Amino acid sequence: MPNASTGNITCMTGRVIPLIDVRTTLLPPRMPGELLAHGEVADRLGRPLRDLRISVTDRCNFRCTYCMPKAVFDSNYRFMRHADLLTFEEIAQLTRSFVRHGVEKIRLTGGEPLLRKDLHKLIAMLAPIKTHDGVELDIALTTNASVLARKAAQLASAGLKRITVSLDALDDTIFRRMNDVDFPVRDVLSGIDAAAAAGLSPIKINMVVKRGVNEHEVVPMARHFRGSGHIVRFIEYMDVGTSNGWRMDEVVPSAEVVQRIAADFALEPIGANYPGEVAERWRYRDGQGEIGVISSVSHAFCRDCTRARLSTEGKLYLCLFANHGHDLRALLRGNGLPASSADRQIDSTIAHIWSGRADRYSEQRSEATVTTPKVEMSYIGG
Ligand code: SAM
Ligand code: SF4
Ligand code: SF4
Repeated sequence: MPNASTGNITCMTGRVIPLIDVRTTLLPPRMPGELLAHGEVADRLGRPLRDLRISVTDRCNFRCTYCMPKAVFDSNYRFMRHADLLTFEEIAQLTRSFVRHGVEKIRLTGGEPLLRKDLHKLIAMLAPIKTHDGVELDIALTTNASVLARKAAQLASAGLKRITVSLDALDDTIFRRMNDVDFPVRDVLSGIDAAAAAGLSPIKINMVVKRGVNEHEVVPMARHFRGSGHIVRFIEYMDVGTSNGWRMDEVVPSAEVVQRIAADFALEPIGANYPGEVAERWRYRDGQGEIGVISSVSHAFCRDCTRARLSTEGKLYLCLFANHGHDLRALLRGNGLPASSADRQIDSTIAHIWSGRADRYSEQRSEATVTTPKVEMSYIGG
């Protein structure tokens, strides 16, 4: 139940999950939307545009119960037509524009991005794009790894720098139940090995932790990957979309995850790699590597959110929990302008949209917002 004065939610087990990051509410606001150097833009809360997540398909071969439950994503579900998807050329054109506004990191996602035919060709088109400082783009990919074992080398040679693999349990029965298509753990582990062999290390491994489903897999996952060089990141189950039937009492707060692991392996917190890093980092005191926790529910990090999302059909979303996107594909396909004028129009549209951004859903989450319409994560990407 939410507390009327604090907005916090007390879940069924009696734990209190703060819904507002008190650290950030006490800080003075940053400068409102202002122009930074090199055509970069800041939004209304002073946040620059640094990361772009590009969804390359809304389809997936898994039916993870927390993301694409079978009851909704069944044979009647209408996925996007191929003609509606952005082409690789269109994605590259938009990426160049985002980079002119300050984007330095690209993450390809979905749906399952490796289901998009010839994805390595897109990576090869993005790899030569440089930031305004002449630095190579940091290109990453998030995947369920179902076909990674045979694609890892090709992706790396096309210019992929980093990879994140989703794996919710080491126990085969639990994992098969969570992906709901009976996919075995063994094949995901082979994908991880192939990615490491292709030089995509350190590999990040995302585990969504859901109460009553896989919280007992937290310690086995930590134990398995300790000392491997890979970094497991434990993600709080989020109220993305409207189809997963999210309930607060199914969230396992990151503090509990850290406590569970620390009971077996001594941990200490370490600083972020860069401003705005989503995961809080902890390292094993005995030098066997690190883990991360992503606490979108219990500890919102909107203040530092520099991420924009481009949907499969070219809509720009300013927040993972947004309910509408801005149609950039219409500008690409509908204006009949010569390329340079089209680019100028797209540039000014992106600047205008980003400078009006004030999204901070996770800081404002309440029982009322949980049921508001939101875009599905399989469409917009994680
Ligand atoms: N199919 C790819 C995969 O699973 O890695 C990429 C897309 S998936 C939407 C991206 C990430 O979002 C995955 O790590 C997934 O576990 C996470 N995710 C999906 N639904 C979620 C939810 N309700 N709460 C937290 N994370 C979620
Ligand atoms: Fe597919 Fe990824 Fe969603 Fe699972 S989390 S259903 S693998 S898009
Ligand atoms: Fe960014 Fe929206 Fe997530 Fe906040 S809730 S961190 S603004 S994506």
